[in-house]
Amino acid sequence: MVTMITDRIAVDTGQPAGQLWLVTGEGLAAWQAGQPATVGATLSAHRFRAKPGEVVLIPGDGGALHAVAGVASLTASGPWDLAALAEKLPAGSYRLADPALAEAFAPALLGWQLAHYRFERYRSDLPPLPERLLLWPDAAAVSDAQSLARAVARVRDMVTTPAADMGPSALAANVQAVGAAHGADVIVLTGEALLAANHPTIHMVGRAAADPPRLIDLAWGDPAHPKVTLVGKGVCFDSGGLDIKPASGMALMKKDMAGAAHALALAELVMAARLPVRLRLLIPAVENSISGIAFRPGDIVKTRKGLTVEIGNTDAEGRLILCDALALADEDQPAMILDFATLTGAARVALGPELPALFANSDDLADALLASGRAVHDPLWRLPLWTSYQDMLSSSVADLNNAGEGGFAGAITAALYLNRFVSAATPWAHIDLYGWQSSAKPGRPKGGEAMTLRACWHMLRQRFASAK
Ligand SMILES: [Zn+2]
Repeated sequence: MVTMITDRIAVDTGQPAGQLWLVTGEGLAAWQAGQPATVGATLSAHRFRAKPGEVVLIPGDGGALHAVAGVASLTASGPWDLAALAEKLPAGSYRLADPALAEAFAPALLGWQLAHYRFERYRSDLPPLPERLLLWPDAAAVSDAQSLARAVARVRDMVTTPAADMGPSALAANVQAVGAAHGADVIVLTGEALLAANHPTIHMVGRAAADPPRLIDLAWGDPAHPKVTLVGKGVCFDSGGLDIKPASGMALMKKDMAGAAHALALAELVMAARLPVRLRLLIPAVENSISGIAFRPGDIVKTRKGLTVEIGNTDAEGRLILCDALALADEDQPAMILDFATLTGAARVALGPELPALFANSDDLADALLASGRAVHDPLWRLPLWTSYQDMLSSSVADLNNAGEGGFAGAITAALYLNRFVSAATPWAHIDLYGWQSSAKPGRPKGGEAMTLRACWHMLRQRFASAK
């Protein structure tokens, strides 16, 4: 169920295509001097200044359509640098007029492809998007961008799909479909089976919903390879539970499974590339709902790890389902655990919607993720596991409280809570992300959005691609 199937980028094999000139504002005069006078006249008529995203069409011989487009730089590009152009051009095939720019603009292939992403599942009134094909000389760059675009589209589709169609059962079906495509083993524990297998917190949070809670456990790859375990928060809808959210806080809560969507999309990239790792994907999937059997403020749950947790707030449910999944992940001592979660509003208050918060018990892993984020323009910002704030999670009747006291440093106290369930010897990174594009930008329509997916994939490839 990935919306965008048709590729809008392809390997250049000499097909008929219009020329695409990329020009910077500073370079415009010099470039124009080398063109026929008619080109200059056309650009002047359009007051073309070569600002990023600006484009002017130039009719060529024999019906060919060429374009001149403004870009910020000719020496480096980010993923979205050709996305506005892709959205503006008429249907047709295009290739770079200067193939020497292909290396610098390879990252922008992704944005060209994603400029053709549209969430169409519930729309019957949309005219088809213009088919704009970008031909590229480097086959590896095309294939990388296609894989990434499909992974991003999977995140967008899953997050934007409403909870009625993306409940715990649908989330499990998505994982099973991806797993089947790559020969992975997928085990799903559902409802009461969670208690028998000692996942009490996942059962507790999800038991009030009509679609029962699940733990989805995917395994793939050679057991002899280094073990990488991905964990994603799968709260398919978060009403807040008995500590119910106001309408304004609940409006977007279909997206509270974005962590699960990210973990699945990253798992798909790993499997599709046959990265030499032993992959495990753990997704606790629940709906935080309200009924007569809902868990309550003041309840105390004994977690899988044995720590008891007093429920200070039923709306801090993400860390509850994650703590049993992380404890399980830690039991077989993987080389690395990465978890993804739309965990706290506090992380958004601190860093805003575009910048996910990174927490890690390993400086080496954190540095690798930050460097990858910079390399692929998919940023993260590290916040500390500030241990003295652990006191804010204290309880007088249990080992821990799930809600931080006092309201300060909410993203940090949530991460400190999770930290209690992972042993210090296991390199672990926790990413607290928003997963949502609030207003449309080129290549990024309003709706679910992948954040840190490309950074994590870059880091995994750097670390494991040659470690056969
Ligand atoms: Zn919540």
